[in-house]
Amino acid sequence: MTIKERIVEQKSKTQELVIIGGGIMGLMTAYYASALTEHIVILEKRMIGNQEASSFSFTRSMHTDYLDPLYARLAYEALGMWRELREKTGKSLLVDNGCLNIAKRTVTPELEETYTAKCYDVVEGLGLRPEKLSKEAFQKRYRQFDVDFGYLNSAGGYFNLRVIADTLVGLLRERGVQIIENVDTDEIVEEDNQVRISTNKGIFIAKQLVITPGGKWANEVLELVKGNELQLPIKLTQPESRYYYPEPDQREQFLPKNFPVFAYPDVGIYGHPIADEQKGAVKVAFYEPSDFEPDADGKIRGVADFVEECMPSLKSMRSEAVTDADKCFYDVVEDGDFVLGALPRYEHIFIGTGWHGAGYKFSPLIGKILSQLTLQNGTVYDIQQFNPGRFVK
Ligand SMILES: Cc1cc2nc3c(=O)[nH]c(=O)nc-3n(C[C@H](O)[C@H](O)[C@H](O)COP(=O)(O)OP(=O)(O)OC[C@H]3O[C@@H](n4cnc5c(N)ncnc54)[C@H](O)[C@@H]3O)c2cc1C
Repeated sequence: MTIKERIVEQKSKTQELVIIGGGIMGLMTAYYASALTEHIVILEKRMIGNQEASSFSFTRSMHTDYLDPLYARLAYEALGMWRELREKTGKSLLVDNGCLNIAKRTVTPELEETYTAKCYDVVEGLGLRPEKLSKEAFQKRYRQFDVDFGYLNSAGGYFNLRVIADTLVGLLRERGVQIIENVDTDEIVEEDNQVRISTNKGIFIAKQLVITPGGKWANEVLELVKGNELQLPIKLTQPESRYYYPEPDQREQFLPKNFPVFAYPDVGIYGHPIADEQKGAVKVAFYEPSDFEPDADGKIRGVADFVEECMPSLKSMRSEAVTDADKCFYDVVEDGDFVLGALPRYEHIFIGTGWHGAGYKFSPLIGKILSQLTLQNGTVYDIQQFNPGRFVK
């Protein structure tokens, strides 16, 4: 069959919306879009749930602790949407047991100047009533840590990624969204007020196209768009993660009810409680913080350094590098902002990527925004700062 014949065949099936990339951003876009229209297709290069995608690990943190009040507000807005979705589905998508932000003088001597201390003010400014904790308070309540200062923000917790993916895919199928896997796209052409996507599974004609292929593949997909010259300055980095296995008599203190998600953002550390009782592991991860100076002495250069200094109770436990998940990368955009909006020079192609290794929590909001951009001719959210056009030379 010639291309023309294949187009004629598919024309009768013009889709309202095609989404390239079935990670959490693609799934959430389809979810919010499916409340507005029918005829939605997700094209996924691999399988939904593949381990190379960032969206399909076991847990991710939910927190609202950002120095930039805009991101703190967006995260809080998204948290409300997660809670709504949890209520609606009755599934344990999110465990909101809070996020504990910590700091220690031997690591970051100027405690008042830490990311943690400054974030406290931002979070308080949002009216979230974070609870300040002194060294003594930690000794009483959170003996798992040896730190000098911190605060508990109840607008935080962790996500159960497997439950979320299964729930969303189920909802999308119920709503008639087509999910097509193992799709290789050859070319994307915008013409005659619509978009033609040529793939190994046929040609798709869409009124609107959303591109959410994850930061690792965003530029690859952009290269397929005929006439597009935009490439995004995205750097990929991989955090180090370790599981620590408490002995049976130590477990109770690391269960979610006693042990919130935690972060020492100044030195790029975060961790999760025992989310899966069968596995019985506490996760601790380290990344190179890009928006704050790491500790001047370079005391903490990885998970083991952090454990030595701030969580000595983990030291004696059996531990191992995380290898069963998280083979994925942080997608850090040069200027630190998301990339979200219309692809410059195109009317029907939109992109969402570059989440700075922190996008999961925002995904319902991003999905809603992309569905509004494509199906409602604009969004009620101010996303000017994220405009992909800022990278046009
Ligand atoms: C180790 C790690 C820890 C993280 N921790 C947190 C956290 O604690 N809290 C938080 O909020 N966020 C966290 N994040 C970030 C979060 O996981 C990501 O921002 C989010 O999952 C990105 O979703 P996505 O849908 O954009 O991309 P992805 O999950 O990468 O999905 C993109 C999908 O598109 C597909 N695709 C690629 N190319 C094509 C193509 N040409 N055609 C069709 N499909 C294609 C891919 O196969 C993939 O399935 C973490 C990320 C990492 C790597």
